[in-house]
Parts: sequence; C-alpha cells; structure tokens
Amino acid sequence: MKKRAVFLDRDGTLSVDSAYPSRYEEIAIYPESFEAVRKLNRAGLLTVVVTNQSAVGRGLLTEHALDEIHARLSSSFASQGARLDAIYFCPHYALAADPRYGEDCDCRKPKTGLALRAEAELGLDLGRSYMVGDKTEDVIFGMNIRAVPVLVLTGFGRESLAVLRERGIEPAHVAENILQAADWILDREGRQAHDPV
Ligand SMILES: [Mg+2]
Ligand SMILES: [Zn+2]
Repeated sequence: MKKRAVFLDRDGTLSVDSAYPSRYEEIAIYPESFEAVRKLNRAGLLTVVVTNQSAVGRGLLTEHALDEIHARLSSSFASQGARLDAIYFCPHYALAADPRYGEDCDCRKPKTGLALRAEAELGLDLGRSYMVGDKTEDVIFGMNIRAVPVLVLTGFGRESLAVLRERGIEPAHVAENILQAADWILDREGRQAHDPV
C-alpha cells in the first residue's frame, strides 16, 4: 500500500521565517512543531519538508551548507522524539548568476516537482496526503498535487489568507499553527493520538 504524507513547509511553518538564514543558529523552530511532528509520526503519516530555498540560487549559501542546516534541523527534531522523514528543497532563482540555479525549474512551489520526487522516492499517494504551509504558494502547491491544503496563520499566514480569499481560493482548513494543523489532520483521519504512558 502506498504511504501517505504530510508535506510541511519550513520557514513560517516549522520555524520562524527569518529572511534567508545561512546558518543553523539563525533558525528558530516553533516549540509546538516538535509535538506536531510526533503526533503525525504516531499516526503513521510521513512528514516531508518541502521548501523553496532561493538563497542558494541567490548565492547566499551553498547546497552543501543547506544540507548541513537540514541535517541539524532533523537532529533537533530527533532529540525531541520527532522524526522528519525527508526534506526536499528547490535551490533555484530565476535571476541566479550561477547557471545551475537560473533554469526555469519545475520544483519551485507552487510547481509540483518536489512532491513528484517524494512520490517516486518514498512511494507516496499524493491524493491522500496533506500540505501544511503559510504562503499562498503552499496552498496552491497542495491543490496542484491534489493533496489536502492546510494554511497556518504563523509566518505569512494572515497575509496569505487575505490574498487567497481575494482570489476565491479557500484552503481545506486554516489553523493557528502547525500543532493545530496536525490536530485537525488527525481528527480528519478519525484517529486518536495517544501519548505513551
Ligand atoms: Mg513558509
Ligand atoms: Zn526549483
């Protein structure tokens, strides 16, 4: 049976959106993110981070540095008993000086490339998966891959909700933060997440 995932945006969803962090120390994980990820882990849903990181294409950090940031991010979650199953990023930037990153890519959200890679590599059923993020492109990405799109009001969430509604787009759910998004997903799944005693 194919696995199901909760795709999670990084900046503004799992952590504070600080413009183009280039070192792990600049990333502040929201405290409720750990519990959210633990609950999704327990429910048997894969947690897959999908993040646009044009800082690479802008020359602000290397892919190697970004990989290190993500390794430390995963370790932080692991130290809290929470598992990030995979992290996929788009390094591209249309105006990049480095030709590797200036291409018209297929993976910058709301384009679907990151989800299609995860689908192939992890064996996912995208149509029975979820997307949680704080920007319009996260919600539209969720819709583009036919997952259930959830908007969080952290990060750029409030501005994004106004823009989406102007455009007549309504997410499946609007949550205060990632933990409330996870709770909504678990309710919708009709499952009960129990803390181990
Ligand atoms: Mg974001
Ligand atoms: Zn890309």
